[in-house]
Amino acid sequence: MNTRMEEIMNAIKHNKLTADDPFRFHCTQCGKCCINREDILLTPLDLFRIANRLKLSLKEFIGQYCELYIGSDSHFPLIRLKPKGSVKRCPLLKNHRCSVHKAKPAMCAMFPIGRVIAFPEYETSSKAPVIEYFYMNPGCGDNTRTQTLREWFDSFGIPLNDNFFIEWATFQKNFVMLIREAERLLDEAAMRQVWNPVFGILYLCYDLEKDFLPQFRENAEKLLRGLQMILSHNTK
Ligand code: SF4
Ligand code: SF4
Repeated sequence: MNTRMEEIMNAIKHNKLTADDPFRFHCTQCGKCCINREDILLTPLDLFRIANRLKLSLKEFIGQYCELYIGSDSHFPLIRLKPKGSVKRCPLLKNHRCSVHKAKPAMCAMFPIGRVIAFPEYETSSKAPVIEYFYMNPGCGDNTRTQTLREWFDSFGIPLNDNFFIEWATFQKNFVMLIREAERLLDEAAMRQVWNPVFGILYLCYDLEKDFLPQFRENAEKLLRGLQMILSHNTK
């Protein structure tokens, strides 16, 4: 396990927070967390909000600012902000400030708070997944402000009962199960035919003028159904 992962595991174990627990942190906007970064992953909701903010289409935003790849461990289609220059600066950092501050990716907005989701042990359980929050030692900023987790999330418009986060994590879990099975059954050429539409449906097929969540649900459903059909055709 690398050091960063150890820190996160440690924080999950020892620094849990509930909605109204206070924590001390104030961002001094030094911009250090926006350089040497190759790991700013974007969800479809992050893309939707940032493209709207910058008044770009999703295709334009992804083309100018992002990189697409398949997670080597996760086997999940991923999009990250494409770092610039030798200091690997986030392309959205302009004049030492985040140019999409109010629409910044959830992982940037929540910092130094992290969250994890725990699914019920059995697939058939009627229990809902549980979200847990934890405080990571930021090693930056100052401690001049105290706020609760609820206040922190409110300031970035991230709900505590975040339906998208739950549905996104559930989709990831189900998708990975199916795509691993497809990779077992199909050859490389056939898998290439699968990945292109997967990226397109998951990240590009949204009307920026309409509500995000119903469109995400439809796209996620379409992808899982499509993979199930591919699997059923190839296991007959
Ligand atoms: S999106 Fe904004 S906050 Fe996040 S790394 Fe880029 S510039 Fe920094
Ligand atoms: S979160 Fe920390 S590193 Fe990032 S801009 Fe604020 S003070 Fe600097």
